Amino acid sequence: MAADPVLQIEGMSVVYDSTQGPLTALTKLDLEIGKGEFVAVLGPSGCGKSTLLRVISGLLPISAGTARISGEPIKGPRKDVGIVFQQPTLLPWRTVRDNVLVPIRAQRLPIQNYLAEADRLLELVGLGKFASHLPRELSGGMQQRAGIARGLIHDPAVLLMDEPFAALDALTRERMTDELQAIWMATRKTVLFITHSIPEAVFLADKVVVLSGRPGTKVLELPIPLERPRTLKTMASPEFGALANQLREMFSTLAAG
Ligand code: ADP
Ligand code: MG
Repeated sequence: MAADPVLQIEGMSVVYDSTQGPLTALTKLDLEIGKGEFVAVLGPSGCGKSTLLRVISGLLPISAGTARISGEPIKGPRKDVGIVFQQPTLLPWRTVRDNVLVPIRAQRLPIQNYLAEADRLLELVGLGKFASHLPRELSGGMQQRAGIARGLIHDPAVLLMDEPFAALDALTRERMTDELQAIWMATRKTVLFITHSIPEAVFLADKVVVLSGRPGTKVLELPIPLERPRTLKTMASPEFGALANQLREMFSTLAAG
């Protein structure tokens, strides 16, 4: 058990009412994330990863089991969750700063109380000079960094990231992974990070959770005891290779099964 659990999921199943009848997306899932922990979730396409994030943000009801944030059952849309999507989804007519403030507007909180925090976060994600720019003036990686600042603006209990770097080119993606580590080390947020990439998961996470193909359930939970900050040297180390291999082997078992 995590020392100070922020997210607790026990025996959770999620069934969609699809046009083809009931579709079980997740089944008997157990997952616990402690305060300040960075957890990566790996799983084949369609195994219910986005479904899991929808449940945690309170947008989708569960069909069985329990799901709690800070001890409270998740019942409806939650304000204490931040989300970073695969696409930056910035409003094109708003400045970068205003985009970061979108969750504040949505929650009808007083904007002026968050202006300094928006600028602090933009500084943190390396966009200090771009606060007054429009999204189209930013590269894909920069837009995604603005998305991370937006996810953090209301100081959520948990930050959910759904394959946030999947739409970026390979080089930008590597750089962003490194930057996300720096951002996380500076904020120590509780993070649930979804990815398709084994090296990305091992590089970033304290713990990697592997889900089986649909219906998704946890088939492996692998602690990543590598020192931080992790660097290119870490990635070249035998320890890193052994952890990545363990995950690869799990995937080949899943594919064969
Ligand atoms: P992942 O993010 O792991 O690729 P999803 O969570 O998006 O997977 O979807 C899990 C399964 O649930 C898929 O088989 C998908 O087709 C199905 N699904 C997702 N959303 C809905 C929905 N609104 N209605 C019915 N089925 C859905
Ligand atoms: Mg998905």
